[in-house]
Amino acid sequence: MSRLRIAEIFGPTIQGEGALIGEPTVFVRTGGCDYRCAWCDSLHAVDTEFRHTWAAMETQDVWTELQRLSKGNPLTVSLSGGNPAIQDFGPLIALGHTQGYRFACETQGSIAKPWFGDLDTLVLSPKPPSSQQTVDWAAFDACLEAAQGAGSVVMKIVIFDDADYAWARKAADRYPTLPLYLQPGNLEVDPTVAVDPQALADKLLWLVDKTMADNWFTPRLLPQLHVLLWGNKRGV
Ligand code: SF4
Repeated sequence: MSRLRIAEIFGPTIQGEGALIGEPTVFVRTGGCDYRCAWCDSLHAVDTEFRHTWAAMETQDVWTELQRLSKGNPLTVSLSGGNPAIQDFGPLIALGHTQGYRFACETQGSIAKPWFGDLDTLVLSPKPPSSQQTVDWAAFDACLEAAQGAGSVVMKIVIFDDADYAWARKAADRYPTLPLYLQPGNLEVDPTVAVDPQALADKLLWLVDKTMADNWFTPRLLPQLHVLLWGNKRGV
């Protein structure tokens, strides 16, 4: 089986964002990303400066660790990163499915993989202008194509400012049938700095007010629940 580059495996905890918010899950955070978002909150899984902290693990060893953390109780495994689409999770998904585990993956939609079609949930999270990245929509379309057969596919966009909001509206027009989740972004990514819950609530209220004023009723608006509960701490 293939070896996987893993930044951390942790849980069980709850999913803090997107379509599966609140769902018990174990996270597999992969090492490495083809993006460098200006506000990335997972640099320890992105920046090669942290490469020495990543483990090269056999698929079987990742599976053993998932079973240990979940005490053998099937739950949802969340593949996160970094960009998990750089690597081959097909064998892990196949192993987990034999024991009733479900698999969700979040990726920016820059790299398509055949195993997307085996997922229970694929969250495609294209990055808005504030990320200072450029979305390749042809690559995004290829991800959608690869995900045919997945249980569900949704789009999630993090919004930091008016430009991101306008961009999200265009992205929504491009994919009118894709369920859409919007959430305000968190600019404080330092794990040692306490987050201000009121500031997070104010950002969400700003987003609610904007969408309601525009009569834009198709997206679901969510907070980053994990930031509210745990701030920017890792491994929770
Ligand atoms: Fe960080 Fe995600 Fe951007 Fe990669 S795509 S740099 S993990 S925010």
